Amino acid sequence: MRVGVLGGGQLARMLALEGIPLGHRFTFLEPAPDPPAGALGRVVDTAYDDPAGLARIAAASDVVTYEFENVPASSAAYLAARLPVLPPPPALEATQDRLAEKRLFRELAIPTAPFHRVDTPDDLDAALAVAGLPAVLKTRRFGYDGKGQAVVRSAEEAAAAMAALGPGLIAERFVEFSRELSVLGVGARDGSRVFYPLTENHHREGILRVSHGPAPGVTPELQARAERLATGIMDRLGYVGVLAIELFQVGDDLLANEMAPRVHNSGHWTLDGATVSQFENHIRAVTGLPLAPPRVPGPAAMVNIIGELPDPAAISALPFAHLHLYGKSPRPGRKLGHVNITGRDADEVAEGIARVCAALPR
Ligand code: AMP
Repeated sequence: MRVGVLGGGQLARMLALEGIPLGHRFTFLEPAPDPPAGALGRVVDTAYDDPAGLARIAAASDVVTYEFENVPASSAAYLAARLPVLPPPPALEATQDRLAEKRLFRELAIPTAPFHRVDTPDDLDAALAVAGLPAVLKTRRFGYDGKGQAVVRSAEEAAAAMAALGPGLIAERFVEFSRELSVLGVGARDGSRVFYPLTENHHREGILRVSHGPAPGVTPELQARAERLATGIMDRLGYVGVLAIELFQVGDDLLANEMAPRVHNSGHWTLDGATVSQFENHIRAVTGLPLAPPRVPGPAAMVNIIGELPDPAAISALPFAHLHLYGKSPRPGRKLGHVNITGRDADEVAEGIARVCAALPR
């Protein structure tokens, strides 16, 4: 099948790396020069809302998917009128606006931190009354990797953050979580579903640094709870493809932070730590193949490579480490690749993480 991908970054690259062996061919819509996915298919190098570019990717594809959620609604609508766009465009709308996303969670009885919209300075008092202090102010649209958000500890700090971030915000309670988890579900065109074991995620400066897959110490009840939350959303949206939901664990409770209608950085460990990766299952889903239930033979972890490239020989010399580079040039804060670590037990994986971190430039 001919698969079109909106975006040509590392997620598109890994989708193609896993989709090509299934017999598929790829075309990417990506305006940036020399994209990570470029070696793996044709690139249509126009803006995401360029009518000629959209017409070209529509003509070159049997199904279109995407690697980021900020696809212009008009582009998704244009494509959806011509061929299947999966996950379905309503999933884009639900995830492009943090307020809409939180309201969807609330409608589906999915627990979240208390939140309130902040459109004008006059909304701040009401918002802080709901969220309490400390609170997190976030831009409703186009925030990623911790950008467009601020933790505030007083009304004065909140007013200053609002002035800096601009209007169109959401305020939420600062959650004292015991850890961050994510659940990855996959929906097939025929309605069948598979789930990956919960992943534990560690962020610094808003950027994911390390994931442990499966998250240690997850009870079957906690796993089932996470899967129920994801199922509620997938049912509502008629979901096809990988859905990732970022969660805060507080005691035995799970609060939904945000979701992504695509493959997710917290699922990169599945390339080496599971019998079938999130990328392969996403491609299976959108192309109408049966899903493969993932089995996870042992503990694994992922360490992101951020800002500076390591010496590939130093990482490759570690027998438990699997290097994945994205073909990007270094820039501070930029995700350039990741290293997956597999081991027989948690101690071996912990030692592997330490040795990989020691081999990465810091
Ligand atoms: P986000 O862009 O919403 O995924 O936020 C990035 C990171 O900021 C999260 O992974 C958390 O580590 C932290 N964070 C976001 N929202 C909150 C919150 N309400 N309470 C505590 N930490 C948060």
